[in-house]
Amino acid sequence: MRYDFTVIGAGVSGITSAITLAQNGYRVALLEKADRTAPLLRGFSRQGVHFDTGFHYTGGLGAGEPLDIFFRYLGLSERISSYSFDENGFDIFHCESPGFEFRIPTGYDRLQERLGEVFPGERAAIRSYLLQVRATCADLPYMNLDVVIDPNASLQRIFGPTLREKLDSLTENVLLKSLLSSHCLLYGVSCSEVSFAQHAAIVGNYYESVRGIRGGGLSLARAFDARLAELGVDVFCSREVTGITVGPGGTLSGVQLAGGDSLECNAAIATVHPRILLDLTPEGTFRPAYRKRLAALEETVSAFMCFAVSNNPVPALAGANRFLLPDAESLYDLGKRPIGDAPLYLSSAYREGAVEPHGFIGICPILFTETAPWESSRFGKRPEGYRQYKAQALERMQRQIERAYPDLAGNIHFIEGSTPLTVRDHCNTPLGGLYGVKHMVGQYNPHSTTRIPGLFLAGQAVVSPGIMGAVLSGFLACGTVLGHDIMRKELKVCC
Ligand SMILES: Cc1cc2nc3c(=O)[nH]c(=O)nc-3n(C[C@H](O)[C@H](O)[C@H](O)COP(=O)(O)OP(=O)(O)OC[C@H]3O[C@@H](n4cnc5c(N)ncnc54)[C@H](O)[C@@H]3O)c2cc1C
Repeated sequence: MRYDFTVIGAGVSGITSAITLAQNGYRVALLEKADRTAPLLRGFSRQGVHFDTGFHYTGGLGAGEPLDIFFRYLGLSERISSYSFDENGFDIFHCESPGFEFRIPTGYDRLQERLGEVFPGERAAIRSYLLQVRATCADLPYMNLDVVIDPNASLQRIFGPTLREKLDSLTENVLLKSLLSSHCLLYGVSCSEVSFAQHAAIVGNYYESVRGIRGGGLSLARAFDARLAELGVDVFCSREVTGITVGPGGTLSGVQLAGGDSLECNAAIATVHPRILLDLTPEGTFRPAYRKRLAALEETVSAFMCFAVSNNPVPALAGANRFLLPDAESLYDLGKRPIGDAPLYLSSAYREGAVEPHGFIGICPILFTETAPWESSRFGKRPEGYRQYKAQALERMQRQIERAYPDLAGNIHFIEGSTPLTVRDHCNTPLGGLYGVKHMVGQYNPHSTTRIPGLFLAGQAVVSPGIMGAVLSGFLACGTVLGHDIMRKELKVCC
């Protein structure tokens, strides 16, 4: 059978692409290396507690907001149930030195007001920052369905200014700058590297509203599966794509699969990490400069993560996440501080679809190099030295958590710990980057189109990480195929 399209990778961007193409009448095959679709979203359960891995919360899912419209278009809205995080503090910024805590509320006006109350001398800076974030979001293709797609618009994200430069130009208040940079943990790039435009495109949605999905990422994965089945998309799991076949005239003609099978198609959307893409494409199909550029893309920070239960509930995590910061400058060099003295992000777990106050996940940004000594080992076959490293890291994390929550002292039981090697092996990022490659000033990430006729790209490397970024990248790729005007018109019907 010859397909109109194959989509390589069944993460959020791949599934978005497959659904969009199927909704437009194309015959689609969706190929996934893992044994299930959306592996990053599914998390895992232990002792009756469900721990999310690739999804905790999102911005832009409030009624009538972009992700709500996108989910309606994708046929997901009736299949998931979302809930609001605490409007008075969806994220709690907790700095140890100087001692300072701020509950970040949703709503631009409320955020401006609260920040103004705490930093009265900085009202002009706060206003200017929020105005610029809002203006940036209003100009983004697909986030705003009336914006004309301009390929040069992304240059702002490459040329800068960086978030740090922007904040330095507005204020000298170190604590305020640290607070406004705290969401760099959501995309894994330091404030001194990420462009203000990229930062704004991501946080702007969270400033509007923040929601979780009942049952977490697993519920979203199940909703995706149901829609794919309804549309008759042929989903092949445990099928790794090993190559892209190019026919006469250099046009894409099919894909090769591990085990020697192949699949014929007229076109493909690849959503894999750019470095994996290089391994899939025949030599000579991309220009050497493009190959070099993709090979050199820097990866986002990696992380050490803990998955824990506590005897006592952690009330502060119901409807909110916590950013624990040792000091106001600890976000400047993301990943370079030792565990226990580095920023730590805490989020709650689930039990039977509802938030479980006794369970939580901790994410601490660290560099891949920290686990370099065991780089050649694989999941399930790690050496003793690695296990000792993990145990020590968990101890340091425990002390940090207990400093913030003295009530939890002696009551935390770690169920699992994961390292940059785990991230590398489960997220398919060659250097353990939490969110694939960086979006940063000076780095040219790939676009949806490629030099190979019939090969398009989507995924977090193209637009931005996060559910929103992955969905947007799917729309950009499909818009390139179907015509952006047609895509926008279809989406507008869901407004
Ligand atoms: C710890 C963590 C927490 C996160 N928390 C949030 C959050 O709270 N909110 C939020 O919005 N986002 C969050 N994210 C980010 C979000 O999960 C990702 O940005 C998004 O899911 C990426 O989707 P994608 O489709 O671009 O990539 P992926 O999900 O990586 O999809 C690519 C797929 O391709 C498959 N693949 C790779 N190679 C091949 C091959 N050769 N053949 C076939 N298939 C292949 C992979 O198995 C994978 O399924 C988090 C991420 C992490 C790691």
